[in-house]
Formats: sequence, structure tokens, C-alpha cells
Amino acid sequence: CDAPLPDAAALLQRRHRHYARPQKNYYRMPPQIERGWKEHLFDLEGRAYLDMVNNVTLVGHGHSRLSAAVGRQWSLLNTNSRFHYAAVAEFSERLAALAPEGLDTVFLVNSGSEANDLALRLAWAASGARNVVSLLEAYHGWTVASDAVSTSIADNPQALTTRPDWVHPVVSPNTYRGPFRGEGSTGDYVDAVSRKLRELDEKGGKLAGFISEPVYGNAGGIPLPPGYLEAVYALVRARGGVCIADEVQVGYGRLGHYFWGFEQQGVVPDIITVAKGMGNGHPLGAVITRRTIADALEEEGYFFSSAGGSPVSSVVGLTVLDILHDEALTENARSVGDYLKGRLEALVERFPLAGAVHGMGLYLGVEFVRDRETLEPATEETAAICDRLLDLGVIMQPTGDHLNVLKIKPPLCLARESADFFADTLGRVLEEGW
Ligand code: PMP
Repeated sequence: CDAPLPDAAALLQRRHRHYARPQKNYYRMPPQIERGWKEHLFDLEGRAYLDMVNNVTLVGHGHSRLSAAVGRQWSLLNTNSRFHYAAVAEFSERLAALAPEGLDTVFLVNSGSEANDLALRLAWAASGARNVVSLLEAYHGWTVASDAVSTSIADNPQALTTRPDWVHPVVSPNTYRGPFRGEGSTGDYVDAVSRKLRELDEKGGKLAGFISEPVYGNAGGIPLPPGYLEAVYALVRARGGVCIADEVQVGYGRLGHYFWGFEQQGVVPDIITVAKGMGNGHPLGAVITRRTIADALEEEGYFFSSAGGSPVSSVVGLTVLDILHDEALTENARSVGDYLKGRLEALVERFPLAGAVHGMGLYLGVEFVRDRETLEPATEETAAICDRLLDLGVIMQPTGDHLNVLKIKPPLCLARESADFFADTLGRVLEEGW
């Protein structure tokens, strides 16, 4: 047809006019994406991009089975979650069945921030205490409580000077660039937590709990040192605290080798928080915990979410789980993820700038450094690499406190050919001069 194409730049100006500034854009001049299919995105002119960053779209873009299920449910009913309908009972049952024994009670919310906020309130209610230990370099959400335990200076440069006094950050157990390196560093990182807890004991402060990602997504997909969570959870529980695993980014099959990140550490948390991929982009989050912890909230507070677990949200959640199973997407995350990791490790051999590949399954991180001894972060280079990847048709963004790690977390349906395209394109960009 002869109709002129809408102007992406003009639309961006309109967006800036009324859309509040603190809400982040991915790019200064982003392509206008209006369509997606599997791990591909298409801009207005029909140009295809490989989406390597979209951890929200777990089962892929434009999934016809999901849109059919959602359309059907919308045409039947969507309402306030106080009503009684089958989907919410079925979805809660399915989530409880996915969690370790004893974690059989589910709250349904609309985002990861809400899930973590509620988890913290549950920890306060169950322990009767207020103090929470969290890790440096962490992001847990934007609501008041989930933001309080977020310490990432990449997300908020003031993070370390503005945390409330109930938050007690401990050193990031980053085995690649933290103060203690490698697999043998567990004891040093556990000692740091132990010292922090003793300081709290000495001041008479009671502990409510500990929150962390069980594989460190925000640091670039770095597995915590072996045995770290087992030791930290024991210290926390000895003081009556509750252990929260934030699985919002790394959980739900993405790691390929594990459905939940905490399995990699061989521990069982008291509270699991999950969101993002579980709704494939639909606002959906959950807190999975023990009945006793959930019930503690009744004594001191109130919980109700109008749309959390609505008929449409529950059907989305159930359908995503069905697709994950029927399309064997966790298995795909493992096989394609392992293959991709191998290809990225070959780039580490060839290019000094590529310091290491972190992660597993389809949560991977390539960390760029100016010097492999000092590990000086290659922040500007990483931003330029992401811009150049966009030119060449790949969507990619940095993470970590220094924004020098590529966060590779594509839809779990990623084809091997797409993994090859990504590795080839990254290799081409590195060859061009980094
Ligand atoms: N926890 C982690 C680990 C996250 O990465 C995020 C989002 N980036 C959140 C919580 C917050 O989730 P949401 O954006 O759905 O509120």
C-alpha cells in the first residue's frame, strides 16, 4: 500500500512528552518494534532483530497457543481475584507442585517488585523482626521495600548511601571480580555475612531474613560460590530469620540444568519469588512459601491484589507452563545454552577484551575487561558493542555494577542457528576493533 510509514523518531518525541523521564529506554534511538515471533523482533520497516535480552518473553514472542488461550479467557471472564473460579485454584496447585516439599502456599501478584515486597513483609511478620541482609550489586524491584534491598549502583548511583537502617548489605559474592576470587572463596564470603550478623547481634538487632538471587543474575549470571547459600541460610535460620530466593530473573527453567536457581546451591529457601517469564510478558508474579509463614501475615496485616491471580492471569500462567512442558523449553535452554556458552568461550580465547563467560543454560554473561589482571571494567566498550550489535540486528544490553557484562537471556525457544548468528555477530564486532 502507498500509505507513508509512521515516523519512529516522531513517535519517540511524543513518548517523551508525556511518559515520565525516570522510566528507562533501552537505546537513545531505539527501533520501533511492533511485532515479534519466537526469538525475533521486527521493526516498522520489517527489519528482523534477534532478541537476546528478553528474559520476560520466556516461551517466545507472538505465541499463538498463548494468545488463543488468553483471547478465549478474556471473552469468557476476567475479574477481581476475590471471585471463585477454576483457573486460580489450578495455577496455585501447579506452582506449589513445582516448589520443593513444604512450600505449598501461593500468593499471586502482578510483578517481581510486588513479589519481593510481599516476601519481605512475610519475613517481617513471621520473624517479628525488621532487619534484612541483602547482597551488594542486587536489584529486587522498585516498590518501597524491594527498592530498599536493591543495592545496585548501576541502577541507582545513590543506592549505597540511601538504604534505610533495616537493610544490611553484605559484599557481593562475585567469584570473578569480588574481593575473593574463584571457587575456593566460599569461606571468605560466608565470614563476611557472619561478621555482619554478629554486629547486628551485638547491637541487639533481631533478624527478619536474608534475600538474594540464588544464581547472581544482576552480577551477570555468576553462580554463587559452592556451599555459600547453605552456610548463609544456616546462619540466618539460627537467628530466627527467613531465607528468600529471588527467582524473578534466573528461575523457571531458564538455567536449563535447573528449574530453580536455588537447586544449583542444593538448598531450599523459605520463600520463593517469581515473575517475569512466568507470564511471558503478561503482568504476573508469585510468592511461594510455607503455610506457617503465609499465615503469619494474617496476624499483622492484610493482603489483597485485585488482578493478582485473575482468571486471565491464571490462564496465562497455566498456558506458559503447558508450553514450557510440551515444547521441552528447559531442555532447549540446556542444550542450546550449553552450545552457545561453548561458542562464547571460543571468543574469550580469541579476544583479550572478553574476560570470561558466566552463567548456564540461557542465562549467560560475557564480561568485558580492559586488562585481565586488574579486571578494569570495559564499560564504554560494552556500550559501544551493544550499539554495534543493534546495527547488525541483535538486541543486547549490559548489566552488573560496572555495566560491562552482556546479559544474554533470550526466549527459551532460541534455535541453534540463532545462537550461531549471535556468536558470529559478536565475533564480527570484536574483530572490528575491540
Ligand atoms: N528481581 C529481580 C532479580 C529482577 O531482575 C527484577 C526486574 N529486573 C525484579 C525483581 C523486579 O521485577 P519487576 O520488574 O517485574 O517488578
